[in-house]
Amino acid sequence: MSLPTRLIVCTECEYETREPQQPIRVLYQLADNILVEGHHTRGWCHSCDDLREIEDLDAARFQQTLERYRDHLEGRGPDFKAQARAVFDDPTLSPGAKIRLSVQAFRNRPPDNLEEAIWELEALLAALRARQSPPRCLTCGSAQTARVVFAEADGLSQDFRHRCGGQLRLVPAEEEPYRMRLALHPSDYYLTTEGVLIEIRPKL
Ligand SMILES: [Zn+2]
Ligand SMILES: [Zn+2]
Repeated sequence: MSLPTRLIVCTECEYETREPQQPIRVLYQLADNILVEGHHTRGWCHSCDDLREIEDLDAARFQQTLERYRDHLEGRGPDFKAQARAVFDDPTLSPGAKIRLSVQAFRNRPPDNLEEAIWELEALLAALRARQSPPRCLTCGSAQTARVVFAEADGLSQDFRHRCGGQLRLVPAEEEPYRMRLALHPSDYYLTTEGVLIEIRPKL
């Protein structure tokens, strides 16, 4: 399997890179060798001096997801199938908007194994509450990282400035019709709850 890569450039200097990098799954090893799946996101690593995948420690967002799952478990969650149907039946939406909104509804659907997902999120949140270290770079392990978010409208990194003072820009697909493709080699990154790498294994 391969994916088209996106070009990311600096608005002021020659720096450029491509993503996605290789797909990663983050697994935290808790006490008694219990593993819970964590999350990762795009960020700048000051040690690598490059755009990297870094740990995502956004506990507030995980808490929201947990509450959504609990609502579903107790039958109080929104009916995502009804939402998807409503999107398709809405004559005011363009075909593109219908696809985008139904993909969104699909992403928000509760997982099949709801109780397990809830248990996993509770364990992850407990680990994050005790966590001392800021998010670490998944390439070098440094905690000198900064999250990089590209604005929807112009593709520019909102809060992040490159060392030259420029902003990073995610080049839209229209500007780059023939994109390089990347063969995927997914890996599992086993980390301690402080984000220290234990080992990397190819994902089965
Ligand atoms: Zn720059
Ligand atoms: Zn790094």
